[in-house]
Amino acid sequence: MVKKGKSSGKRNIERTLQEILRSKYAPSGVYIALVLIYIATNVIVNAVASSRGTIELFGGEIPTTSFAGVFASLSNIMIIFMVVYYEKKGYITSLVLMLVQTPIWLLGIIKRHNIASLPGIFTTFLTIIAITIIYINNVNMDKIQEKLRDQAITDGLTGLPNRFACTEFVNDLIKRGERFTLVSIDINNFKSINDTMGRDAGNKVLIEVSERWKNIADNDITGTLDFITRQGGDEFSLIIRNYKSNEDVMSTIRSYESALVNKVTVDECDFFINASFGYAEFPTDAKDSDALFSCSDAAMYEVKRANSSEHIIRFKPELLSMEHTLEIERDIRNALDNDAMFFCLQPQFDISHKLRGFEVLARMKSVSGDNLPPSEFIPVAEKVGLIDKVDSSVFRKAAMFFGELIKNTGTDVMLSVNVSVRHLMKNDFLEEVSEIIKASGVPAEQIEIEITESIMIDSADKALMCINDIKSMGIKIAIDDFGTGYSSLSYLNKFPADLLKVDKSFIDKMNSSESSKKYVAAIISIGHIMNFGVISEGVEDQDQLDTLSSIGCDYIQGYIWGRPLPPEEAKQLVIADIQSGK
Ligand code: C2E
Ligand code: MG
Ligand code: MG
Repeated sequence: MVKKGKSSGKRNIERTLQEILRSKYAPSGVYIALVLIYIATNVIVNAVASSRGTIELFGGEIPTTSFAGVFASLSNIMIIFMVVYYEKKGYITSLVLMLVQTPIWLLGIIKRHNIASLPGIFTTFLTIIAITIIYINNVNMDKIQEKLRDQAITDGLTGLPNRFACTEFVNDLIKRGERFTLVSIDINNFKSINDTMGRDAGNKVLIEVSERWKNIADNDITGTLDFITRQGGDEFSLIIRNYKSNEDVMSTIRSYESALVNKVTVDECDFFINASFGYAEFPTDAKDSDALFSCSDAAMYEVKRANSSEHIIRFKPELLSMEHTLEIERDIRNALDNDAMFFCLQPQFDISHKLRGFEVLARMKSVSGDNLPPSEFIPVAEKVGLIDKVDSSVFRKAAMFFGELIKNTGTDVMLSVNVSVRHLMKNDFLEEVSEIIKASGVPAEQIEIEITESIMIDSADKALMCINDIKSMGIKIAIDDFGTGYSSLSYLNKFPADLLKVDKSFIDKMNSSESSKKYVAAIISIGHIMNFGVISEGVEDQDQLDTLSSIGCDYIQGYIWGRPLPPEEAKQLVIADIQSGK
């Protein structure tokens, strides 16, 4: 466990924090100036105290000795400044300075019978008492301040410096013009730990990871000067200084990456953690703090997007197009927070043009009010881990609408919903589906879940378990975008699907290439051999329809018979279908 609070004064992180604060209000140049002014004023005091001359001022003669008091007060003010601003160092310097000059004054009195020095000595002793009281008071105040400061700059959970400390330090280094590298770190799939094991376990993982990284930063293991902070959630920032080359930076980041190699055990469960690291250098990649954070974040998001085995990427200007991704992410979050995700319903028909059902398609508007196509926001939602929330929101809204439609019209057509792998694999997916069925009143038999072929390939066994459970509830399964993946027949055989959806790309090519037509015909045959229904997506013209009809396709979805419709129009279609009595 990480020990919270202050660690030994020699440690890197604590030392750096002190550096940040010290540089804020007590520059060492001012300290030297105060000492020099003190010494100068005392030399003047000694000189004027022993002078027997007079100065002409305001038309009268004033003895030079009277100025001794003025300069003595000035020197005492320097002493007070020193104690107030430089605390222990200032107090000790003041005592030394005053104790050194007292014998000189005493000597003046005894040898030269210069009694003008007497008030000076008296004032010096009073000043010593005053600064001692100020110093003791300061020490007490400091203890309280230090506690407050620790709270303000320390992350309560992990004991690491927090976002505020990180920003302050980055600003400070930029002000000093020092070259350094900022690394944005995000723990991969942390959300699933929270979702599956609960927040407490998630917190323990964060504490363990932080402790490992803190040890590296504190004990000069990397050969560079490192400052690790927690930004919040599963995001951390690392500041690297004192390096010679990019290789040094990479090697330092690798040390932090390697610290995660050993499993993290929490509540008797083993977690294998890895993280994404994106970094940018000041001043090479960015000239101010905001830009630097954006650059290192963009690099970190690129690691997540590329999903490659390399978990460390340096910022490059091309990544700024990622800004667009960030904007879309903001739009998605905004739509989810404001319950502004909505849906369209695209009709599906059998080959005789009888209504089979509807596919639910997610829709959303950007903050500026433009419609964002799913081809833009669905991949971003997948990448940033929001797809399950998008799916849930759309599924729930469409089911509530459909339940009402069934109540009012008695329709028995299907409602097909797209479900992403992330959503399907969630522990509470089944509970969620049962709850939606209960709340909406849509019978399970009228719900179809579309999963893409790639789910079967990437996570076959796990997906199969979920799909069997869904099937046992009475829900139908469709394999979406069929033909675009590489699923083997043996996988297909294991999957208890009801419907194959032939991808639009094959339908597009079908009438211009004999091999594409044969391919579609083969998919339809395989589907039928396995007892699946087959639907073709993206059917746009009569030629396609004729061909599909001739090769035995069961169902049609496409602009030729129906575009995605707003729910009210879908309702009219259902009513017309019932009235036509087909
Ligand atoms: P999909 O599930 O394969 O959905 C079919 C897509 O083809 C829809 O695009 C639909 O509007 C479009 N389409 C249907 N017929 C035609 C046609 O004749 N011509 C043309 N040009 N296009 C046609 P959309 O709505 O843009 O959705 C794109 C993809 O986004 C969907 O592909 C699906 O993978 C994903 N998606 C949409 N809604 C959701 C959702 O709620 N959850 C998840 N996970 N994915 C969704
Ligand atoms: Mg679909
Ligand atoms: Mg599809």
